Amino acid sequence: MHHLTIHRLCFTQSDCYKAGVKQKPVGVQVHSTGANNPYLKRYVQPDDGLLGKNMNGNSHNRPGGNVCANAYIGRLADGAVAVYQTLPWDCRCWLSGSGKNGNANKLGFVGFEICEDNTENRGYFDEAVRGAAVLLTAYLCKMLDINPYCNRLEDHAGLHGMGLASNHGDIGLWLKKFGYTFDDFREWVSTAMIDGVEVEYVEAVPVVEHPTLRRGDSGEAVVYLQTLLCDAGDTIPVDGKFGQKTEASVRAFQQAEGLTVDGVVGTKTWAALEAATGHDTEPAPDPAADDPVGPDDEDVPTDPVIMTQADFAALKASYAAISGILRKYETVG
Ligand SMILES: [Zn+2]
Repeated sequence: MHHLTIHRLCFTQSDCYKAGVKQKPVGVQVHSTGANNPYLKRYVQPDDGLLGKNMNGNSHNRPGGNVCANAYIGRLADGAVAVYQTLPWDCRCWLSGSGKNGNANKLGFVGFEICEDNTENRGYFDEAVRGAAVLLTAYLCKMLDINPYCNRLEDHAGLHGMGLASNHGDIGLWLKKFGYTFDDFREWVSTAMIDGVEVEYVEAVPVVEHPTLRRGDSGEAVVYLQTLLCDAGDTIPVDGKFGQKTEASVRAFQQAEGLTVDGVVGTKTWAALEAATGHDTEPAPDPAADDPVGPDDEDVPTDPVIMTQADFAALKASYAAISGILRKYETVG
């Protein structure tokens, strides 16, 4: 029996979460980032004390990011490899592209990103790809009743080959560096399904900080500030950059609250903003609150993932039949 911990940190600021398109998950799409940065904090924020802080305000948990996965795999600040679920499993992600070649998202392919390093480190490959990604895929395949040998499990390159994704080579190019193909990945997943995968969900609690912010500042704290200003009724861009619009918004808020109107966000302005938006009693968004697919829901198996050799042989034999299933979903939209 394998054990997999899934940290849950819902991307409440992402377009995908806000669009909130619920769909029946019918497949699993496996991606890797194609950029040399194995650290989760590049993509997953806010910091929960394990991820570390992204000082660039460019995580995927923001509007307009144009990419958003259901989960991410990569390194925590201390170097350990971890899995973060960032959207409910039945929430439409954005990974395979858009338009007619981005259909995997719309068809209901649950998707995750593996943070690439320079793709030459065997140790990281073993941990992130052969380890965490295989276990997560095995868990999802079992949950969604997917035969890992059929085309309801594909990487980005495989989906492109089927006309369901943009033209990217992940994760096949990374696998190739170590002499593997996606068929090997399927084997690893099926082996993990036979061994069984026991999943434990851990709620990630964002670390909330209140640094003094002024025009010219940037980063996740500014994202949080802009989020509060929007929650308070303004419509400024949430881009992590404290510019003219953010300052004007801060000043208007300070004026309305009877605070000193200086455009600088200090202790009093933070407190007033959090009080005005209900964040003073609830410092962090609770991903479980509006997450319809969680470990407590009856439609998600909490039992360990177990497939017998006989079950598996039958599944593998039914590959040809199952691979036709996808066509049925192509009309869904
Ligand atoms: Zn991809």
